Amino acid sequence: MEFLILAVGNELLSGDTIDTNSQWIAKKLTQNGHKVRRMVTVGDVKEDIVREIRNSREDFIIVTGGLGTTPDDLTREAIAEALKKPLIEFREVKRMLSQYRIDDEIRERMSLLPEGSEPVPNNEGVAPGFIVENILVMPGVPKEMMDIFNKVIGRFGSESYWEEWIETHKKEVDITPLLEKAVNKFPSIRIGSYPQKTEKNGKVEFKVRIKISGKDIEMVKEVREFIERGLSS
Ligand code: ATP
Ligand code: MG
Repeated sequence: MEFLILAVGNELLSGDTIDTNSQWIAKKLTQNGHKVRRMVTVGDVKEDIVREIRNSREDFIIVTGGLGTTPDDLTREAIAEALKKPLIEFREVKRMLSQYRIDDEIRERMSLLPEGSEPVPNNEGVAPGFIVENILVMPGVPKEMMDIFNKVIGRFGSESYWEEWIETHKKEVDITPLLEKAVNKFPSIRIGSYPQKTEKNGKVEFKVRIKISGKDIEMVKEVREFIERGLSS
């Protein structure tokens, strides 16, 4: 399946918060054999959320952020608007929230979900997540997001996936011909190279991490051996 990950929050755009949610979700989906087609970040701006939802061509959309209790939390309204569904009160959610000492008004607001939603309990915080049509919506707090996501990831099914990593101290330019050869020889396998520069005790070190991934475990291993042979020759 192909996914759009949509991160919502002004704090992401101002640089105050690093979007670790999208990264975590992307890793999980990729390791389950899915493809994350795009990651998009928008502020707490209703029209921007609506536009991204309406423009998405992916099979499924994962949204995080803006589900909380503050007035700047607009995600709920935005999803309803994008799907042209009314927000209706979910008694089930109200019941979930009854264990928390929160303002009645806030409880009312949090119990409103787009019609046809399925609430997903949040065992790490107050606001439940929900699934409506092909959209999963979760709070921005990482622990809460993870709790909810782990409850639903099984529904997306999984496709076979395998990855192997190699590290080399050769320079990226020097290994490029080898990687090109591997890409041409094994077109169904993805090969990524991530050059890194680290400094240890004042000594600068270069290394390249090479990631080999694909659906066919045996072939991924074969590519790994092919590259390793090339690096040592
Ligand atoms: P809350 O119920 O706490 O208001 P919420 O759904 O409204 O939840 P946000 O207000 O968007 O979530 O974010 C709550 C906190 O979660 C933020 O202070 C931020 O630190 C963190 N957060 C939000 N989005 C992300 C993200 N994409 N990656 C990492 N942390 C995030
Ligand atoms: Mg918030």
